Amino acid sequence: MEIGYQDIVKVIRDMYQTEEAIPLHEPKFTGNEKMYMSECIESTFVSSVGVYVDRFEQMVADYTGAKYAIATVNGTSALHIALLVAGVKDNDEVVTQPLSFIAICCAISYCRAKPIFVDVSRSTLGMSPDDLRQFLEANTMQTSNGCINKKTGRRIAAVVPMHTYGHPCRIDEIAAICQEFGIALVEDAAESLGSTYKNRHTGTFGLLGAISFNGNKTITTGGGGMIITDDQELAKRAKHITTTAKLPHPTEFIHSEVGFNYRMPNINAALGCAQMEKLGKLLASKRAVSEEYKAFFEGTSIDYASEPSESVSNYWLNTIILESKSLRDRYLEEINSVGVMVRPAWRLMDRLEMFKDCQTTELTNANWLVDRILNIPSSARLA
Ligand SMILES: *Cc1c(COP(=O)(O)O)cnc(C)c1O
Repeated sequence: MEIGYQDIVKVIRDMYQTEEAIPLHEPKFTGNEKMYMSECIESTFVSSVGVYVDRFEQMVADYTGAKYAIATVNGTSALHIALLVAGVKDNDEVVTQPLSFIAICCAISYCRAKPIFVDVSRSTLGMSPDDLRQFLEANTMQTSNGCINKKTGRRIAAVVPMHTYGHPCRIDEIAAICQEFGIALVEDAAESLGSTYKNRHTGTFGLLGAISFNGNKTITTGGGGMIITDDQELAKRAKHITTTAKLPHPTEFIHSEVGFNYRMPNINAALGCAQMEKLGKLLASKRAVSEEYKAFFEGTSIDYASEPSESVSNYWLNTIILESKSLRDRYLEEINSVGVMVRPAWRLMDRLEMFKDCQTTELTNANWLVDRILNIPSSARLA
């Protein structure tokens, strides 16, 4: 079936049953959000101390199956600290994917390391294990100092894949490659709370994972993030340096190093606890939305990005892939112009001024995808 932008607008309006503006993704507060936040206000414990932070951390650990969870002010700070405790240092290099939000490259830069970009796969939209292996085989050597990039002489300290729009990448293959080359794996699971690969939660395949609870994500704490890990020492260290590296003492203020004030306030964690209680319902609703989209686009010439094999996706953002950049750009303008919010992918990281000199592979798939991706409204439908 040949379709125009009006057909896409119609399926989206039918989905959300409104003639008003439709956002790309809006949060849903249908549970105990107000009650828990009121408790914070009434008790005055709105800030860096309170019961909700511990409770929220425990809920996320239980849900993902990670042994430890450390709440932070946002997903970017979670990535920053995950990289630091994974051992990324000045002048190191970190391999990541160019098709991603800038948070990974910021976190790498905060560690004074440099990104290297390898390609994504067309089927998952996340890091390609094949391209990662090819890059490492062609460009690195093993030394007593770790995996060294022969071109720059620098150590490759970590690999950071991302589960794009909630679709799991082939993370077990990437984990095996990291193991083989002696490189730490830090997963950006910012978009993929609720997504699993081979029945295991994304973010738990590497040394550490990072989750985001920004307002546009599957669940939100206003702003917030979480580091997850099974490693007790790394968990302790992450908690310590995200809470100003303050040593426990009944009265005195003593800090063991220059840490970070990255702790999540109690009032945000209260929101997070209420949101976690609704996560199952949100995911079910998002899956129903994705199934309706999938059924519609199956009869058209437009490609709809479904969950990859052996994966369960949270369908954070629904993605269609158009035939050409010109068609994508036309739809982008036309659909937005009638009050239905659609968005392209991020500008590829290697095309940003700050990262344009970073080492890359061919990036064939990333360059192809970035011209054709269009994200369409994806909010859950809850009363
Ligand atoms: C949202 C997001 C983050 C973290 O973002 P914050 O706004 O700092 O919570 C990191 N990586 C990706 C891919 C994201 O989409």
